[in-house]
Amino acid sequence: MRICVYCASSQECDPHYHAVAFELGALLADAGCTLVYGGGSAGSMGAVANGALSKGGEVVGILPKFMADLEWGHPGLTRLELVEDMRERKHRLLTGSDAVIALPGGCGTLEELFEAITLKRLGLYFNPIILLDTRGFYTPLHAFMQQVIEQRFMNAEHLAMWSLVDEPGEVLPAIRATPRWREDAREIAVVRNGR
Ligand code: AMP
Repeated sequence: MRICVYCASSQECDPHYHAVAFELGALLADAGCTLVYGGGSAGSMGAVANGALSKGGEVVGILPKFMADLEWGHPGLTRLELVEDMRERKHRLLTGSDAVIALPGGCGTLEELFEAITLKRLGLYFNPIILLDTRGFYTPLHAFMQQVIEQRFMNAEHLAMWSLVDEPGEVLPAIRATPRWREDAREIAVVRNGR
């Protein structure tokens, strides 16, 4: 499986988040998964890559050229693919992935996560989206999305587009337990009366 991981570049968050990212990377590599991520060396991004590399895993980083120029890239990856801009990076991260995992992060992580959710709603992505809810990081976001649904900006069915797990060890079981997203995604994409 090719697994796309979105996560933080911050070095200043609690180191526990970096440790969890490292653990997840190691688990993915142990399971024979290819890790695809943003290609950075900082924060949870570097940690997830190092975790996978520590187990001999294949790690593909997709980095905009301007970040490579700033020497933000991880020097030890299996492959570092340089792209023109952030849009191309997001496209390359998601396209061809068998699942998406979002770890705690800042606006970059959240933007990537919401693009995946948006494309899934529109029937342009069909694979599992798993939020690693370390220390309850994503619990408020999940509650907010329930409010989005209660206020009729999305349909109740859309809550099934993503799921939360507490621990890295639960991520792969959650991916395996998640069915492919519904083929009628576009029929339920629009908010209608009675949903
Ligand atoms: P954030 O969750 O806001 O830290 O964003 C993570 C995303 O920010 C990555 O996917 C990158 O798009 C970008 N990013 C920000 N700082 C860096 C960095 N030092 N190295 C690599 N990517 C970075």
